[in-house]
Amino acid sequence: MSQRIKIKALLTGELTGKEVTVKGWVRAFRQNRFIALNDGSTNNNIQIVVDFENTDPALLKRITFGSAISVTGEMVPSVGSGQKVEVTAKTIEILGDCDPEEFPLQPKRQTLEFLREKAHLRFRTSTFGAIFRLRNTLAFAVHKFFNEKGFVYLHTPIITASDAEGAGEMFRVTTFDPQKPPLTETGEVDFKQDFFGRSTNLTVSGQLEGELGAMALSDIYTFGPTFRAENSNTTRHLAEFWMIEPEMAFYDLNDNMDLAEEMLKYLIGYALEHNREDIEFLTQRLLDEEKQKPQAERSEMSLLEKLQFCLDNDFVRLTYTEAIDILKESNHNKKKKFQYLIEGWGADLQSEHERYLVEKHFKKPVILTDYPKDIKSFYMRLNDDGKTVRAMDILFPGIGEIIGGSQREERYDKLVQRMNEMGVPTEELWWYLDTRRFGSCEHAGFGLGFERLVLFVTGMGNIRDVIPFPRAPKTAEF
Ligand code: ATP
Ligand code: MN
Repeated sequence: MSQRIKIKALLTGELTGKEVTVKGWVRAFRQNRFIALNDGSTNNNIQIVVDFENTDPALLKRITFGSAISVTGEMVPSVGSGQKVEVTAKTIEILGDCDPEEFPLQPKRQTLEFLREKAHLRFRTSTFGAIFRLRNTLAFAVHKFFNEKGFVYLHTPIITASDAEGAGEMFRVTTFDPQKPPLTETGEVDFKQDFFGRSTNLTVSGQLEGELGAMALSDIYTFGPTFRAENSNTTRHLAEFWMIEPEMAFYDLNDNMDLAEEMLKYLIGYALEHNREDIEFLTQRLLDEEKQKPQAERSEMSLLEKLQFCLDNDFVRLTYTEAIDILKESNHNKKKKFQYLIEGWGADLQSEHERYLVEKHFKKPVILTDYPKDIKSFYMRLNDDGKTVRAMDILFPGIGEIIGGSQREERYDKLVQRMNEMGVPTEELWWYLDTRRFGSCEHAGFGLGFERLVLFVTGMGNIRDVIPFPRAPKTAEF
């Protein structure tokens, strides 16, 4: 028997004239004659031509939408329009039946909400096939980018004993029986008796450990799952998401911004180059979806144009203070169109403000720097004005914040002072403070939310559709 060939390879046409075996799932079966077969290697199907007059009718009946089959036959140039090549079937074997009465998917467009409830099967659709191939390409490109730059991939822990990272609410990790945890004499849960001998949580960020690595290896990055128990039911937040966190010694904030911009462009460019068909498919999907909307609500650029635009343009860089001035003076603010009006300096920016700057004002990706220290984390380097810190957030159209980063406070005294002011326990983070005691140096880093990047590149609207098995409030089925 001939060796199984993936459909992506077959469609190049290189095997024309040869006998091949192909396996996959039936996407359509027309006129008892034409099977559209897909195996996930590409968004495109291969056409199988069946000699129905010489095929057992009982077998033909079992070729249904969703069934798994194996076909052996000859690769030939196609006479029909729509494909270059097709397979003339010699033998067809049913590998797995799929009862159309029972199968939850239908051979027609189904809503994303419906498919979210059938998340165990949604990989079988063209849309989710394209999304998860793109997600894979982007993950690979992350490693390629950093590897080419000589960064060390550092695995930071998923279980952490410090709850001082301050990036969000945490999930507790314990082996205690929730019904009867051991108590101290004063009636509190006695974590000394717990598995790690102390209270532990799932990590919200690998940054603090990442900094330890950078203080010896110069350039490191992490790429792993992070967890936040914030009960925010938005289209941009998950309880379990993947984050890429590079950390670089001898980098200041400008170096940090340059690296982040170069990385985002590299990743988008890599996806455009290697998954063009998937992006074209998703671009068309969005265009079809937008046809239902009134003209005024449609996007100015298609997905493909938007991605290309990101590559071709410098990101706008400005300070928080400059951004506040723009927002305060905007007609949007004056006409009270923001839900949270900008009154003055010091306010935290909401996603509506971030998106106004990116989508309405600059119409470009924006990097905001030098935020007020009170709305940022303790580890960010204090500016000489004593009011702002060397933070940077990168804001993207349709997404809002995609990256958050900063130059870190490398001066021991200033760091301790900030921790005390913000109530961050210095005893607990003694190991972190040690980096500032022994050979401290200028350094910087950032965190890229991987799903937010996948959202941007796929043009999808809900973060739950770009991670295979979403974890969100009241959502952990599959
Ligand atoms: P946001 O303000 O959007 O909630 P954040 O400021 O809390 O984000 P950071 O702590 O700076 O986020 O995390 C770094 C990056 O991780 C963010 O820029 C974003 O891309 C991503 N991110 C943060 N929280 C989530 C989440 N709950 N789900 C998915 N991605 C997230
Ligand atoms: Mn942030």
